[in-house]
Amino acid sequence: MSSYNAIPSVDKMLSEVRIRALIDKYSRTAILNLIRTQLDHVRADVRLGKRPPNLGALVASIEEEAGDQWQAWPKPVINATGVILHTNLGRAPLSNDATAATIQASSSYSNLELDLQTGKRGSRHAHLSALICQLTGAEAAIVVNNNASAILLALAAITTGKEVIVSRSESVEIGGGFRVPDVLRQSGASLVDVGTTNRTYHTDYENAITDNTGAILSVHSSNFRVDGFIHRPGIEELANLGNARAIPVLHDLGSGCLLSTANYGLAPEPMPQESITAGVSLTFFSGDKLLGGPQAGIVAGNRELVNRIAAHPLARAVRSDKLTLSALTATLLHYIRGEAEGKIPVWQMISATETELTKRAESWKTNISQAYLSGTRSKKDFIPTTDNQTDRSIPIITKSARSTVGGGSLPGETLATTLLSIDCRNIHGGAETISSRLRQSDPPIISRIENESVLLDPRTVLPTEDGNVLKSLLDILF
Ligand SMILES: *Cc1c(COP(=O)(O)O)cnc(C)c1O
Repeated sequence: MSSYNAIPSVDKMLSEVRIRALIDKYSRTAILNLIRTQLDHVRADVRLGKRPPNLGALVASIEEEAGDQWQAWPKPVINATGVILHTNLGRAPLSNDATAATIQASSSYSNLELDLQTGKRGSRHAHLSALICQLTGAEAAIVVNNNASAILLALAAITTGKEVIVSRSESVEIGGGFRVPDVLRQSGASLVDVGTTNRTYHTDYENAITDNTGAILSVHSSNFRVDGFIHRPGIEELANLGNARAIPVLHDLGSGCLLSTANYGLAPEPMPQESITAGVSLTFFSGDKLLGGPQAGIVAGNRELVNRIAAHPLARAVRSDKLTLSALTATLLHYIRGEAEGKIPVWQMISATETELTKRAESWKTNISQAYLSGTRSKKDFIPTTDNQTDRSIPIITKSARSTVGGGSLPGETLATTLLSIDCRNIHGGAETISSRLRQSDPPIISRIENESVLLDPRTVLPTEDGNVLKSLLDILF
């Protein structure tokens, strides 16, 4: 029998019980397409002299393919990296209230753009604008898709055809190729850079002002730190200069931190309310960094400038949807009620004490040791038995370390924590194998590796996820 004859026919595949179950779960058309594609690959392989897989293997690969392609996405993962705002893991997790708000707002109709009093068209911006003004002291505010689009939109609305003064120390890349000079070019403004990489003075800005100056832009160095012989004018000095010369001062804060980081032993992060008090025309910040809400860009400040931004055609292109607006409203209400630290996950994580975290890491360790010592679990082959058969110790310890805030905020700043550390030097496949098994467990657990040890930081693991972390660790190690 030639190899070609060993390839099952489409009909033969369709008559398989497990394939029929897939058809019930998805659709005949979808599964048929997968089968045809798969059989094409098999024929191509046979042409190259390979042996075709048997029927069972083919069915299994169709099942796997369907599961991969048509699962819910993005999949929840457990962040045990100790990086609170992890960009690859979706930055800030939402509070329970914010999550509930998105479900409410999306599962029924809502008064998103309807004034219930007059029955006339309302604004999707008004409600949030009022909350942001209460929290920051601004006159007006608008929420758009993210902070990058907020800056692009504001520059387009306010500075097109004009010069924008930026310090050379702030002409930076914010991330993902979003660079200040490029954004200015996109918005039709021209960049006037002043000062030097390390030192820029008030007079540098002042001397650069012309009749065609459209704005002074100050960008917070949120994702890097320059130390040593440096100088830049305070934001209040810049605001005073701009106000004296009737030039808008635009302040990109990055994070949008409404609580004082200094209270948690971290370097002070500039706050929107301080920026407004300092007298800037507009302050810009993200919704999903230290604010702890959904992805959003918030512009707050001078009413006339906010109105110009709202009226610009790009505003429609970068507007936020109702899910975001509902989650952001719920998040801001936590601040208004003074309960942000206790209710918003990123602030719960920042404020978690070393004592609490040590307790959790110790309890993970104790649970694992007990499961092992009680004999209900035995070591997997990849944990070698020692020569001394009475030594039933497992290579897991807790140790002091530091967590980071991440997400392009507070560079170099860390918080004391206690990690669970799995020494993988004697484990077959080493730390990479263990971390990869954790990543592929259900739910996936994202860890980090240092010196051949897999490290798990309880700070970024939501307390409700502790049980899942333990279950996966036990399954993987024993
Ligand atoms: C993160 C950041 C941005 C971009 O914000 P997104 O909400 O991610 O678009 C802009 N400016 C600064 C200074 C930032 O740190």
